[in-house]
Amino acid sequence: MTKESSKAPPLYPKTHLLAASGIAALLSLALLVFPSSDVEAKKTTLSLELESPAEQLTQDQDAADVAQATNEPVTSPFAQIEDSAEEAQETAQTKPAPVVEEKKAPNHREVIVAKGDTLSTLFEKVGLPATSVHEVLASDKQAKQFSQLKHGQKLEFELNPEGQLINLHSKVSDLESITLTKNDKGYAFNRITAKPTVRSAYVHGVINSSLSQSAARAGLSHSLTMDMASVFGYDVDFAQDIRQGDEFDVIYEQKVVNGKAVGNGPILSARFTNRGKTYTAVRYTNKQGNSSYYTADGNSMRKAFIRTPVDFARISSKFSMGRKHPILNKIRAHKGVDYAAPRGTPIKAAGDGKVLLAGRRGGYGNTVIIQHGNTYRTLYGHMQGFAKGVQTGSSVKQGQVIGYIGTTGLSTGPHLHYEFQVNGVHVDPLGQKVAMADPISKAERARFLAQSQPLMARMDQEKSTQLASNKR
Ligand SMILES: [Zn+2]
Repeated sequence: MTKESSKAPPLYPKTHLLAASGIAALLSLALLVFPSSDVEAKKTTLSLELESPAEQLTQDQDAADVAQATNEPVTSPFAQIEDSAEEAQETAQTKPAPVVEEKKAPNHREVIVAKGDTLSTLFEKVGLPATSVHEVLASDKQAKQFSQLKHGQKLEFELNPEGQLINLHSKVSDLESITLTKNDKGYAFNRITAKPTVRSAYVHGVINSSLSQSAARAGLSHSLTMDMASVFGYDVDFAQDIRQGDEFDVIYEQKVVNGKAVGNGPILSARFTNRGKTYTAVRYTNKQGNSSYYTADGNSMRKAFIRTPVDFARISSKFSMGRKHPILNKIRAHKGVDYAAPRGTPIKAAGDGKVLLAGRRGGYGNTVIIQHGNTYRTLYGHMQGFAKGVQTGSSVKQGQVIGYIGTTGLSTGPHLHYEFQVNGVHVDPLGQKVAMADPISKAERARFLAQSQPLMARMDQEKSTQLASNKR
């Protein structure tokens, strides 16, 4: 409705309000008897509707916007990943800590910090007097970092033949160690930070229980598993589409110090086979320095959405996160875009996806909600009716007609109310945030292929080597 954004809303007579709240109640009743599994979510919508039907009516064409119907919580596929990662961490931390280890050199001592240890008790264990603890701590401001001891930390002592401390060394992390070295004045403190080298690592896994468990077993870290799910998030619905036998290959950057992996960088390339269909991804940084993932042949992983789901329509109300209502003096959001068009005008799916709902939904009237991969969701409200074959659970292709313009639900004229969500957050479908990445430009295509082809070839090679060695 064009009036909506600029003018004060019409004042509805009381009888109209009553009738409208009656309609809302009836719709809600209908929702309650739906034999559907997401009745819970609909109940939330219901309570929102009944709270203030009058306010909804004064809002705009779609009073239904108050109850953002696509807001229901979805069980996250990552909940499991989270759990198992924590478990892994716990087990890693509970390794036993031996007390004192004598080393080959008689003037070298090593102590591992145990519960209750202080710098004094550790000095005592290697036979150093209490005075030398004070001497050490007083020698340099930073020396007190040696008293911030962690359970399991190793302290290495070098003593001179007289039994005096000449060097104290400890690794604080995989990348950092601290030392104190005796000099004329006392002890000099030093911090050594190792610079990791970066190499690429390969991992291959087959899913037989959950993605998180299979990825962990294959040796893929929690955060890389999350990254992989996000890279393929458009094509694969990791919440619902994962099947036993799905498999993945990943080449990623690994940070190494002294031959030990201390951290990971980004995924460089990956392949995911979901129910027999294989998707590829290659990370590419263009000449402007922007990194993004592309398919092996250079198409963007994020496929373009149709920007306008209705042809020959005009925008009658834009997206707004909130504006002060001139009469109600309240902040109100319109989390979608309205397209006014004659009754019966076809409405098209903005992208490939799965129909989560094709049915009535409160004030939205006849509504279609489409899930696009893991990340995106679109909603189409107030439809006159649904196109043939479009029903809850069916799949739709981009551009496929899903229904027709109408004015069902709480609507005052024929229009489409269209919402777009990214990871559960409403975004303006007309805004830049939804602008999808373009394929590799012609000018960079050769450079891209020079990077992607060796990565793909390496995944092929590593996978066959791994499979061969597993068979032995
Ligand atoms: Zn609207």
